[in-house]
Amino acid sequence: MEHYIIICNSTQHMLNADKILKQNGIKTELVPAPAEYGSVCSTAIKINAYNIDMAKELLYGNSISVKGIYPYKIRKLDGLINRLNKGLDSDIKDVLKKVEMGIELDEDDIVTILSANGDENLSSIYNAADEMRKAIVGDVVDIRAAIEFSNICRKNCFYCGLRRDNMLVERYRMSIDEIVDTAKELKKIGIKTVILQSGEDLWYTEEKIIEIIKRIKKETKMRITLSIGERNEEEYRHYKEAGANNFLLKIETTNREIFKNIHPDDDFDYRVKCSEWLRKYGYINGNGNIIGLPGQTARDIAKDIIFFKEMGIHMVGIGPFVPAKGTPFESLPHGDVEMTLKTVAATRLVLKNVFIPATTALATVDKDAQVKALMSGANTIMLISTPEKYRNRYRIYSNKNMVDIDTAYRAVIKAERKMPPYINKEFLKLLN
Ligand code: SAH
Ligand code: SF4
Repeated sequence: MEHYIIICNSTQHMLNADKILKQNGIKTELVPAPAEYGSVCSTAIKINAYNIDMAKELLYGNSISVKGIYPYKIRKLDGLINRLNKGLDSDIKDVLKKVEMGIELDEDDIVTILSANGDENLSSIYNAADEMRKAIVGDVVDIRAAIEFSNICRKNCFYCGLRRDNMLVERYRMSIDEIVDTAKELKKIGIKTVILQSGEDLWYTEEKIIEIIKRIKKETKMRITLSIGERNEEEYRHYKEAGANNFLLKIETTNREIFKNIHPDDDFDYRVKCSEWLRKYGYINGNGNIIGLPGQTARDIAKDIIFFKEMGIHMVGIGPFVPAKGTPFESLPHGDVEMTLKTVAATRLVLKNVFIPATTALATVDKDAQVKALMSGANTIMLISTPEKYRNRYRIYSNKNMVDIDTAYRAVIKAERKMPPYINKEFLKLLN
């Protein structure tokens, strides 16, 4: 079936357009705008071709500012199958053939990818995702840096080392000055995006968070990603207005049963609502999941990927579960690296124009896995840039691997990729 995509001139217009089309009975889907029509972070509305005339009438009649309407072309990878291993299982080959021809993958196709095993099948899946990554987002690995500014948390997520009942944690909070000073150090390396992450710590009131955002903006001009968990709609709106650009709030799993079992304080629907608010206020919207949660199946993970697609998510953090000391899950096995890599690959093949980090959690369970992720669809690395005196206390999981600019640089070189042009060259010289 043929489709069109509609790209608007602002997020607000896009969301209004989506609402108006829906109210008039037109089925819409929000998708990341294909690379040729927008930056990696813009969202487009996808509709069936037979609705196009009615949609145009509605959009123009309601003064929606439309940038363009284009036939929706799914990226093909011409000749893909010929470039892959010859000994592929037929079900995997059928799915990759769809990728070659630009046919969208459905939930069953994703399950097929996630259930693949054997070296030839796996390397073919990774290579296909790698080709898609190269075609859509190129060779530069985006490098961002996280300041983990507080390990105090009001919640008790069963998997997480920062949960409030974990008595093994020596808790800390960074002052606003410390946070801003750390951000300024990152600016010197050339980092363009700082991620401010913490437990759900309400000591940082709305006013304090706004002050942090405004000061970092004023003093460094860096882009700001918040990763501070659930807040209310008004707060999300005010943070965006104060200058925050991105938000990272993972659903962790779309299986409601598992979600409930691992989150004693959380409501699944509220978490989804939070992501919808983030979308509504124009954040670059980060989401993601944990691989290897108790009871989680390949189908659950496939459903996560479909959820990210339907929510128009721009950045997907995929990490294996890593046991944390002092938590109810401390003795569970860590999530499977291979399953995590397959999820990275499937996410790239399905969502295409998105940021996918090679996560710290992966680097923790297997020191080579970050490079493997970069070669299986990932295109971003997040540095841990928390001041040294606090770093060891931010243990969402145990034995957390350190990812600094040096580790990131080595991973980028090993994966035969490019460092971003914004990283200070003098700094890289020091690493050589
Ligand atoms: N409190 C905020 C941000 C800190 S936690 C929040 O919950 O959003 C950030 C991420 O760490 C979580 O989204 C989760 O996916 C990940 N995480 C926490 N504990 C983990 C564990 N034991 N293994 C793997 N990932 C974990
Ligand atoms: Fe707190 Fe986030 Fe850890 Fe849950 S995952 S306990 S909200 S820091």
